[in-house]
Amino acid sequence: MPAEFIARTFENSDYRSPSRFIWSHVRRHRLMGLLMILGAFSNAALAAILPVFAGIAVDVVIEDRPMSVIVWIVVAIVVSQLVRSGLQFARNFASEVFAQRIERDVRDELYVSLLGKSMTFHDFQPVGEIMARVTNDVREMNFMMNPGFNLIIGSTMFILMPLVVVPSIHPALLLSYLGFMASYIVVQYFYIQSLHGVAQQVRGSFGKMNAQLAEILDGIEVVKGTAQEPRETIRLNAAIDAVRDWFVKRGDIEARYLAVLLLGLVNVTGFLHAAYLYEQGAIRAGDIVSYMGQLALLGFPVFTSIFTFSQVASGYAGAERILNIINARTDLDQNEAGHHAPMQGSISFEEVNFGYLLDKEVLHQVSMTIQPGQTVAIVGQTGSGKSTLAKLTNRTYDINAGRVLVDGVNVRDWNLAALRSQISIIEQEIFLFSRTVADNIRFGRPDATQAEIEEAAQKAQAHEFIMSFPEGYQTVIGQRGVTLSGGQRQRLAIARAFLTDPRILILDDSTSAIDSATEDHIQKAIWAAAKGRTTILITHRLSQIRWADHIIVLRNGRIAAQGSHENLLETSDAYRRIFAHHER
Ligand code: ADP
Ligand code: MG
Repeated sequence: MPAEFIARTFENSDYRSPSRFIWSHVRRHRLMGLLMILGAFSNAALAAILPVFAGIAVDVVIEDRPMSVIVWIVVAIVVSQLVRSGLQFARNFASEVFAQRIERDVRDELYVSLLGKSMTFHDFQPVGEIMARVTNDVREMNFMMNPGFNLIIGSTMFILMPLVVVPSIHPALLLSYLGFMASYIVVQYFYIQSLHGVAQQVRGSFGKMNAQLAEILDGIEVVKGTAQEPRETIRLNAAIDAVRDWFVKRGDIEARYLAVLLLGLVNVTGFLHAAYLYEQGAIRAGDIVSYMGQLALLGFPVFTSIFTFSQVASGYAGAERILNIINARTDLDQNEAGHHAPMQGSISFEEVNFGYLLDKEVLHQVSMTIQPGQTVAIVGQTGSGKSTLAKLTNRTYDINAGRVLVDGVNVRDWNLAALRSQISIIEQEIFLFSRTVADNIRFGRPDATQAEIEEAAQKAQAHEFIMSFPEGYQTVIGQRGVTLSGGQRQRLAIARAFLTDPRILILDDSTSAIDSATEDHIQKAIWAAAKGRTTILITHRLSQIRWADHIIVLRNGRIAAQGSHENLLETSDAYRRIFAHHER
């Protein structure tokens, strides 16, 4: 499967279906799984032995046999139950380890897969929905293992035990048991069937609610600024209600659980049958006690499977949702064997067409060439495709037709990491992580020393304001009120670029909405940064446009004109219009 990034491959994982996926994870923890099954088996066996001892004791009393036999029975009960609790401990411990390991591994696997998805994928996935899958759906897989499968295996043993013990009391007594089993299997089948769909809805509605919640928190400033809290509360309430309704629906199905009725029936028919056989002299009084004890064992599976099957359905639905992400096609491939070389910095577009969506083309027939070391300005109205052009250079998105070449090599033939690590794009919206200032600057080069970080910050005109923070470079951004202005963010981003020392630097509208004092700083920083590398400036600033070696005018996704400043002033109406507008 193509991915932009593969940290590790999970070779033994099977993505063909949810059950294969679950099994491929279960298989990894053989020892724990075995302990779980062994513990479950011995628990049932040693529980089944109890009524047998009780039955013998009854007969000893009724038939006036020596009381020393009772003492032996007591000793046997104590020993057997001690062994049982020891094994129970091992089983519960093993099943917890088993389930937690699976949760951990699946989350890891999903995260790696998410990092490898293309921007096209992420553009259409609400963050909250993804968060719900990485946190809750993965968690459901944990619960599916423990208590889910753990109790199902355990209770299956409880169901099977009477099959072994009852014939030793009287073969005919198997009749009620077998009747119970047949109807139990049918009832469980329909129960699981009806749970499956609801479990999917429960998980789905939860994901939707999470997506809404995340979005509202992200846009909290807008909500507050427009005083829309009451309306947004109502909107979210609808999603919250949907989650409740699906859970209630699940509860409804659980409440109609028929197996409890079957349990009552098997106890009645079983007792009547045993009493009849006793009347006939076929069994002894103690046998009735042992037999009823065996039927009592069925209570455990019947009651636990109300929620264990529900848990399994939920985990299965979670696994389905996780697989949906892992299996989602992503067209970009990290292209490990691709072209890998130090970059010179030439860029050329040959009749490039591109659209984010298949039915809406954003760039049409774009052709241009940029020489290594040139500074190029791209101008044009908002929405004309300037940022898009930048993103095609480092293959953030893949074009639909034509070719994009860097150093004469098609970007599709470049090793993706080599391509991207030598091109820096400073976005319009600069994203900073809530880590220290130093960590943010060295993001693209984690091994940079403090001296190197400071040097980069100096060149980016950022050192001064960083030092004005209480903890300087160790200040954590986003904490204790440390937020940065747009201009400061840009300078941090430029410092970041100094450190990674890319061959191609692209600055996207990075000086808009900044006062002139700050602009001066940024201008200096950009000039320093542009030295010795190919630089693309997406800008409205005349000072930058004039200064560029080459100017490209974009209009509605087409190149309207290109050339030098003087050249364009003479030949291009579109260009003159931009200038006239600015000079006014
Ligand atoms: P500019 O940077 O010149 O303002 P953009 O390159 O950002 O313009 O956008 C060009 C066109 O592409 C616009 O019509 C915009 O709506 C569309 N567009 C931009 N980003 C996306 C995206 N991630 N998904 C879909 N359409 C997009
Ligand atoms: Mg833009």
